[in-house]
Amino acid sequence: MSRKLIDNARRRLAGETGCQANPWGGRLSVALIYPNTYHQAMSNLGFLSIYHLLNSRSDTLCERFFLPDPDEIAEHRKTGYPLFSLESGRPLQDFDVVAFSISFENDYLHLPLLFELGRVPLFAAERSPNDPLLLCGGVCAFLNPEPLAEIMDLFAIGEGEVILHELLAALIQGGERAEMLRSLARLPGIYVPSRYQVHYHPDGTLAAQTPLVGTPPVVKRQWLADLDSAASRSFIQTEATEFGDMALTEVSRGCSRGCRFCAAGYIYLPLRERSLENLVAQVETGLCQRSKVGLVGAAVSDYPQIAELNQEILNRGGKISVASLRIDALTAAEVAALKASGHRTVALAPEAGSQRMRDLINKNLDVGQILQAVRFLAEGGIPNLKLYFIIGLPTETEADILEMLELVEQIREVWVEEGRKRGRLGNITLSVNPFIPKPFTPFQWAGMEPEKSLNAKLKKIRSGIARLGNTEVFFESLRSAQLQALLSRGDRRLGRLLPELAAGKNLKAGCRSLGLDPDFYTTRERSAAELFPWEVLDSGVSRDYLWLEYQRGLAGQRTPPCQVGCKRCGVCG
Ligand code: SF4
Repeated sequence: MSRKLIDNARRRLAGETGCQANPWGGRLSVALIYPNTYHQAMSNLGFLSIYHLLNSRSDTLCERFFLPDPDEIAEHRKTGYPLFSLESGRPLQDFDVVAFSISFENDYLHLPLLFELGRVPLFAAERSPNDPLLLCGGVCAFLNPEPLAEIMDLFAIGEGEVILHELLAALIQGGERAEMLRSLARLPGIYVPSRYQVHYHPDGTLAAQTPLVGTPPVVKRQWLADLDSAASRSFIQTEATEFGDMALTEVSRGCSRGCRFCAAGYIYLPLRERSLENLVAQVETGLCQRSKVGLVGAAVSDYPQIAELNQEILNRGGKISVASLRIDALTAAEVAALKASGHRTVALAPEAGSQRMRDLINKNLDVGQILQAVRFLAEGGIPNLKLYFIIGLPTETEADILEMLELVEQIREVWVEEGRKRGRLGNITLSVNPFIPKPFTPFQWAGMEPEKSLNAKLKKIRSGIARLGNTEVFFESLRSAQLQALLSRGDRRLGRLLPELAAGKNLKAGCRSLGLDPDFYTTRERSAAELFPWEVLDSGVSRDYLWLEYQRGLAGQRTPPCQVGCKRCGVCG
């Protein structure tokens, strides 16, 4: 028994307002785990919405588990006290189902520890029918479940609001484990990896994923057609989280822009938007507990009634916060609303510095639009500017990097010119991240740039920015990007890598110990006809369309955003 761990849990619970877990007794019990800390998890709308959905039913209860903080991990190890739920302090073994909600591939590294502290064997083959059933959801599950295929018993392929009701009904019915998995594999949006046999070619590429009898050849992604039918917001408010000062509210799902590197843009197609009435109702609920509303979505500034929504929030004495703004949708009115909300920094995402690279990724932006957006922000009195860039894109050259530095200089000239008028020079911060090829995007065939040439580009950018006053640059760690690239496009053989990495081995050493080559997964360009591990799923976007978009990108051709009645990618029928 650990006083410290229980006191921490009680403190977290005491700091919360909002949705609560159903009581025990006569219900299916679900342990919902976020494979990172409480601080991170409680700002994840997917996690909070599933928790709310499960506890809104009379036949199910759901309690939360998180990765303990470092000092708590030491306490668990010292006391031998197992992982326990926040609500009732029960261990994992007490639950019928353990459901992971995973948004980031690099959180897979926390799975060996969570299973160890949870006293549940990591690999499905080592578990018995007395162990809880392991379910995995979240965007990682329907981008590429294969690296976790030997760990999880089943995956939810798509949006929980659509998948859970039928799944829960089947789980409540219960039955012998193997038979239950056989029938669950036939439900829409449910992928049961043990119902597929995987074969590889001698060169290590995938030869086939063969379904066992009575199992569908592919699992179709499920999505919620009408967002107004299910709310998605901060169902639990707590200060002890990343966006604890905000009432987070989902505005839309998906994006119509078709940026060719962007998984979120492709894996949540088609674009769906909530009605203004639905949003105003959710905002009113949120403003009962917080004075700021965090608007969540892949392209919030594309929301057709964004000006009206902002005004509705300001009229109720609220403030507005948005993660980043679409450059070509930015208006002076939107800047004024952000200024009125006390925004000190606004982020823009040019993504690529040269026009050639922006056309490659289908950003549909030119320098004029970028500088206009910067001028809007500067004239609107926003003190600081954040800029997102990606480097290492397919066919990128040194000239593209130099053009990026020129663009930053042009942006800085506008920023300084307006700053002088205000008598105050704000800061410009660049966030530069390596390109990571993602499944179900046009760049799923591309290789990640090798570390050596990426480092040379980072060095050039660092020295170029160092010459500019009030401008700084931050780079995502290449190690973490390489791990993400490996896990994003990995296959089942990578499941066994997680304990190696969790035990402290670096990527190369961990792969070597399993006879794997990390470059096979990260930097290798895929052939046009190669079968991908994630193609046991059907995202709705046709492979041919993705290949066509890849070729159009390499040819520098732009593709317009989604249009009503369009059927080109296959998602809209
Ligand atoms: S079919 Fe057309 S409108 Fe629908 S998601 Fe695809 S590109 Fe967009």
